[in-house]
Amino acid sequence: MTAVRNLGILAHVDAGKTTVTERMLFLAGEIHKRGEVHDGTTVTDFDPQERERGITISAAAVACEWNGHRLTVIDTPGHVDFSDEVERSLRVLDGAVAVFDAVAGVEPQSESVWRRADRYGVPRIAFVNKMDRAGADFDAAVASIRARLHPAALAVHLPIGAEAGFAGVVDLVRMRALVWESGTVTVSPIPAELEQIARERRRLMEEAVAERHSAALEEFYARPGLSDVTLAAALRELTLSGEIVTVLCGAAYRDIGVETLLDAVVEYLPSPLDRPPVRFEWLCGEPSEPVLTPDPSDPLVALVFKVQGTGSGRRTFVRIYAGTLRKGESVLDVGAGRTERIARIVRVQADRHTEVEQAVAGDIVALIGPKSARAGATLCAPDAPVLLEPPVAAEPVVSVA
Ligand code: GDP
Repeated sequence: MTAVRNLGILAHVDAGKTTVTERMLFLAGEIHKRGEVHDGTTVTDFDPQERERGITISAAAVACEWNGHRLTVIDTPGHVDFSDEVERSLRVLDGAVAVFDAVAGVEPQSESVWRRADRYGVPRIAFVNKMDRAGADFDAAVASIRARLHPAALAVHLPIGAEAGFAGVVDLVRMRALVWESGTVTVSPIPAELEQIARERRRLMEEAVAERHSAALEEFYARPGLSDVTLAAALRELTLSGEIVTVLCGAAYRDIGVETLLDAVVEYLPSPLDRPPVRFEWLCGEPSEPVLTPDPSDPLVALVFKVQGTGSGRRTFVRIYAGTLRKGESVLDVGAGRTERIARIVRVQADRHTEVEQAVAGDIVALIGPKSARAGATLCAPDAPVLLEPPVAAEPVVSVA
């Protein structure tokens, strides 16, 4: 299976989700022209209504590549009116980037989306954006994430410069400085004036990790301290288990920090294989184990999470949980009791569609052909009908404000 990261970007409206997404896709080589939110050219916003309103309301899935990994960014609406869509998109992603405004820190909407992601057990990293704004305060933002969302939020960055003078970050995991100038990043030793504070923060991070990770704890006392490799591996494991959330910072609008965010997505967020099995109901015969792990050789099981467009332009976005979906095949829409032919399978990229012959477990693709499958439908092999179970019991969103 190709190395895959299916991720969502979660944010309060205006925190910079669209800008961060657009910059990620640009850097990952998918956008050849920089879109700006205000002139309506941002590529994840397919829908004219979105352009008009300036908010993202449709959960389009956009694929790109970074460091040999296929990233699919599932656009997760941050607007409260569209919570059904948020629920469906949270169900199909494996990990998420939560974007915060460096001035406002945690806002009420970021809190409600965060709590929903908790219910789906979605591992997360946090990106404190807009570090160039007057009043931006990374430490205060991290403190508000700790106080309101996750007590074990660990800053892996130390900002270099402040507000309009924000120039880059010290990467505390690899102990190096990354400075951006006109969108180009230079890697260099940590500036002398930040060395002491970087060392202290690294030490605090090592302690916090060692406290929660037994192999890291052993090394912490034996060395003393942790190697960069052990620290990165432990951060990944603790992120996947939800015990910690690493916090990065940047200013997407000024092209600062987005490469490090992409690196962190690959480094810390889960692949489909890292995720817990998905439960399903077997509709024919008795299953020995009614859970699905992403195996391309099993019978097909896929979930429709978004339908965009109408008529021949209708795109049915699916997440494949098991098996292989091939172009030209027919699949059973279990709920509707209908079979549908898959005329084409496409990966939607920022500025184009790429047609593929097949898609496998773990993939997110758009299907052209199904005429009636609705969001929430299970698609499966006609001779092996299964129904995906609702993933979690509905619970009220708890606010700790
Ligand atoms: P969304 O509502 O979360 O999708 O936020 P947008 O990406 O639309 O951004 C909201 C506003 O913040 C826009 O005017 C952006 O230009 C601006 N913005 C986004 N990122 C940054 C940043 O890093 N620094 C500053 N100063 N402004 C930003």
